Amino acid sequence: MDIQSKLAGHLNAIPRSGIRDFFELVIGRNDVISLGVGEPDFSTPWSIREAAIYSLEKGETSYTSNLGMLSLREKITEYVDEFFHISYRPDSEVLVTVGVSEALDLALRALLNPGDEVIYHEPCYVSYSPSIVMAHGVAVPVATTQEDGFSLKPAALAAAITPRTKIVMLNFPTNPTGAVATQEDLEGIAKLCIEHDLIVLSDEIYSELRYDDEEHVSIASLPGMRERTILLHGFSKAFAMTGFRLGYACAPPELIEAMMKIHQYGILCAPITSQAAALEALSGGETLYEPMKREYRQRRDFLVNRLNGMGVDCHLPGGAFYVFPNIQKFGLTSQEFAMGLLEAEQVAAVPGDAFGPSGEGFLRCCYATGMKDLKEAMCAMERYLKTL
Ligand code: PMP
Repeated sequence: MDIQSKLAGHLNAIPRSGIRDFFELVIGRNDVISLGVGEPDFSTPWSIREAAIYSLEKGETSYTSNLGMLSLREKITEYVDEFFHISYRPDSEVLVTVGVSEALDLALRALLNPGDEVIYHEPCYVSYSPSIVMAHGVAVPVATTQEDGFSLKPAALAAAITPRTKIVMLNFPTNPTGAVATQEDLEGIAKLCIEHDLIVLSDEIYSELRYDDEEHVSIASLPGMRERTILLHGFSKAFAMTGFRLGYACAPPELIEAMMKIHQYGILCAPITSQAAALEALSGGETLYEPMKREYRQRRDFLVNRLNGMGVDCHLPGGAFYVFPNIQKFGLTSQEFAMGLLEAEQVAAVPGDAFGPSGEGFLRCCYATGMKDLKEAMCAMERYLKTL
């Protein structure tokens, strides 16, 4: 049987993840220091794990409401109100999902007709383009530059808008660059979205992890934006809860209802144990993530100083847990540079082109890795550079 001919045609347009290709080379090698996978090196704080265990002990093993437990949705709206200064109704404007990953997929599938265009800034999280294509949309990347701090400039967005544009996807702080947007740029982007009647999908999964002492501003909190924005947030990053697979979407009722239709038939509900854990995470809030954030900040400062000190141009990222050094001057592609570093010094960092063509010439180093390994990795990098 020719299985290939049976597969859905639009899947052919989706390449394998560049991260996956690279890390298949690393799997099973315990001599490698990995600055690769974007996942906290901390275990989930104990009080959160304990809440999950206690929930199981109490025999909470059932489905929940399709939207998620009402008590969790109430807690989410309190948290979002306090942190993002936007108020949502827990009964109709919040959907608890299996990570931000599911929320992203639901939003795209709920909104896109074949051929609708989705604009996003690049370098970006590896799933954006494939998720758009899987929802039968057209992915329209807008390149950002190191000079602009990898932030999306309103003029660049304006140039990409066409009559087919339906959604603008934003991710601040950004994976893989750590970029944050200025209030002025967010206002410019908001103005364009209102003028062109666009929906904004704002992935703010790293919003607690900002190191520049500026308050995080969500585009949804700007005038005229709440009604057209789907705010995506989750527990994986700040609360180190990747394995719990929990996220949420906040949006006007019609959008939540449309996403919910897909969620209820495809997923039914997010796992109850994870929801119990998330309730505890939000009760602890800042006290739980602050110690990890302090550590990330020290690591960021260490890496940026060390890289610039050895002649690798690296901008100071405002958030998330990645640095994105520029390796263009060494005359290698980002794949060649990363492969060379892995072979010569057993340090794995992700080639920038995995995050889209505009990531070429850069390397993503994740600092959700202990300081000892980061120090060793930087010594290894310095040795490697001397061989180029
Ligand atoms: N968005 C971004 C920008 C991410 O970096 C990630 C995880 N790497 C996700 C979404 C997915 O997160 P989750 O674990 O909540 O599905």
